Amino acid sequence: MIIKNVELETVCGITSVLPENELPEIAFAGKSNVGKSSLINGLMNRKSLARISQTPGKTQTINFYNINKELYLVDLPGYGYAKVSENEKKKWGKLIERYLHGSMQLKAIFLLIDIRHKPGANDQMMYRFITDMGYQPIIIATKLDKLKRSQVQKHIKMIKEGLELPDNTIFIPYSAVTKQGRDEIWKYVDDNILK
Ligand code: GDP
Repeated sequence: MIIKNVELETVCGITSVLPENELPEIAFAGKSNVGKSSLINGLMNRKSLARISQTPGKTQTINFYNINKELYLVDLPGYGYAKVSENEKKKWGKLIERYLHGSMQLKAIFLLIDIRHKPGANDQMMYRFITDMGYQPIIIATKLDKLKRSQVQKHIKMIKEGLELPDNTIFIPYSAVTKQGRDEIWKYVDDNILK
């Protein structure tokens, strides 16, 4: 994928009507601070179009980025931010559910997990939530550059076990610093979604 044109086209909050897009959509989910904005900026070759949060958990919207008028990259709200009230969490959950349930064009969900840590209870919940909706998420293990090369395989195994991933799960380690993994993600999209 060669990025020619990127536009933040739609921003949806908890009460918004979600767009009925005609282009395919790929969605990105993950715990706040996992590196979702950095990944999305990296994929789009933009420095800061997706906000890189100083205050994690602040992104309370679903953002639709139109890429080349070919597809939408959908940034879902980050979950698991401790300072958010239960009531707020419920509202975000409903918004995500409304989107995953309602989108006619959603072709793939990328679930981001920090490669350094064992998946937490909320990662497991999100994984289950996605599979219950009928999707098999692609796992992006973020912040790859923070590990020593010798640690990588062990951490991949830890994440696979922590989420009980089926053997055929697509698993892509990514670094926003080196951009390792970027081409692999776009290749997946090119081969499976834009084919
Ligand atoms: P979000 O809350 O999931 O959108 O996470 P951000 O993209 O805002 O990233 C959270 C923090 O992690 C920021 O300080 C980023 O600079 C940092 N970060 C994100 N991705 C990487 C990465 O691949 N490598 C390193 N070293 N830091 C990262």
